[in-house]
Amino acid sequence: MSLLLKISIGFVLGIVFGFVVGPMAAENVALKDYVMPLLDVVGRIFLTLLKMLIVPLVFSTIVVGAASVGDPRSLGRIGIKTLVLYLVTTAVAIVIGLALGNLIQPGVGMNIAGAAGKAQEGKPLLEVFLDIFPSNPLDSLVKANMLQIIVFALFFGVASLFAGEKGKRVIGAFDAIAEVMYSITHMIMNLAPYGVFSLIAITAAKYGLSILAPFAKVIAAVYLGCILHAVIVYSGLIVVFCKKSPLWYFRGVQEASITAFVTRSSSATLPITIASVQDNLGVSESVSSFVLPLGATINMDGTALYQGVCALFVAQAFGIDLSIGAQVGIILTATLASIGTAGVPGAGLIMLTLVLTSAGLPIEGAGLVAGIDAILDAARTSLNVTGDTAVAAAVAASEGQLRETKTAKL
Ligand code: ASP
Repeated sequence: MSLLLKISIGFVLGIVFGFVVGPMAAENVALKDYVMPLLDVVGRIFLTLLKMLIVPLVFSTIVVGAASVGDPRSLGRIGIKTLVLYLVTTAVAIVIGLALGNLIQPGVGMNIAGAAGKAQEGKPLLEVFLDIFPSNPLDSLVKANMLQIIVFALFFGVASLFAGEKGKRVIGAFDAIAEVMYSITHMIMNLAPYGVFSLIAITAAKYGLSILAPFAKVIAAVYLGCILHAVIVYSGLIVVFCKKSPLWYFRGVQEASITAFVTRSSSATLPITIASVQDNLGVSESVSSFVLPLGATINMDGTALYQGVCALFVAQAFGIDLSIGAQVGIILTATLASIGTAGVPGAGLIMLTLVLTSAGLPIEGAGLVAGIDAILDAARTSLNVTGDTAVAAAVAASEGQLRETKTAKL
């Protein structure tokens, strides 16, 4: 049985298990004290193992990626293409989010005065920008500050190109480290079916079907938006740049999309994203090792779309009219906010406070959304990761760095 089939079975069984067993767990001691905690442990071990890979994998692959471009000018060219595609797709995502928020009107008629909770405040945008420069790169590595790691790794990789023979030796060493990290990734992926089963079972048990009802429209808007964005924008990129069928593409990246859905972390999914894009889509190592870690850190189409929907939801719920001007402002702030969103579970909710504040909306609205945030986070993270893969494929195709692949398996 292929790994993908096992992961899919784990996913479906996990949902069914969670919905069926969740309600029974309240009364049944064995379920409550043993089965659910065991699932929690399995899920957490899987997540931790994925996280274990991130810092060494990202650092070594970016150094090698930056250095393997050979000519620093072509790194600049790939960099610019990547950034433009990331920004444009993100802006389109927010527009889709706002459009669906206006259409579905999730917050109209809600009485939330008593339900408003407290929300944590986001960082000012200038701080977010200044924070990408590391003052101590070792500290950035220890704290897994991804943007700082990327900046330092880019310097390191490019500088080693200028350092002659010695630089080559350093790159060789990092190349070997990256190879070892990939092989650890493949080992850990064998645990994915069990990890996925446990994580999704716990979420389904916790939220149940009935709890979804009050916020069903927000959930529907975010999920529908994510599907529309993937089908229209990513299919478009694949057809235009790669001249391939969208089905080929979605099949190739589905492990990454599903893993993102259950881990709710772009960073944790990164090893799988890189493996899928290289193995199944045939994107070269030099493009994927640059475009994907950067994307996992700054490209958050799903988060941006979610912020569009939620801003309207909060405005409607509090009876505040959002002008077109205010909605254009949301496009700008949500784009920047999504760049500053860390690829970890729930980060988008914190950035939502920033978007709400700059749109003049009550940040208590974020407290309201918090109750269903995990469900929204699953969809948006999946879109975040899928978006990175589409841009990686498009950039690779435009650079002539997309090779033919035979089978779509990890
Ligand atoms: N969980 C998301 C991610 O890792 C970020 C977010 O919360 O929006 O991509």
